[in-house]
Amino acid sequence: MKIELVTKAYEAMKHSYSPYSGFRVGAALLTKDSKIYTGCNIENSAFSPTCCAERTAFFKAVSEGEKDFKAIAIVGGKGGEITDFCYPCGVCRQVMAEFCDGDFEIITTDAKEIKSHTLKELLPESFKI
Ligand SMILES: [Zn+2]
Repeated sequence: MKIELVTKAYEAMKHSYSPYSGFRVGAALLTKDSKIYTGCNIENSAFSPTCCAERTAFFKAVSEGEKDFKAIAIVGGKGGEITDFCYPCGVCRQVMAEFCDGDFEIITTDAKEIKSHTLKELLPESFKI
């Protein structure tokens, strides 16, 4: 499952629109009923409308009625070259906390090794109403 998700994240990264940073990111989000939604980062010249790959995947899935998620794979690097682990930013971690339990799995790779963490590890004591 991890390899398939990472592979889908690599494929999604090909669609990255990142002319400003050159940092290309792809994500593949797995629902609890085994559907996969992908996303890439989409930058904007005004910067604040920029959306991360992870949120793109989440918003695609939620907009199609999905609410139950199991895992997400994230890959990213300058020019699309993966040389280090790519972790979700704080905003994306908060979006994950909106829809996922603490045991939601976050998978990333440096192209040599695959690491996985739980959401609770990456965002302890998250904000919830
Ligand atoms: Zn983000």
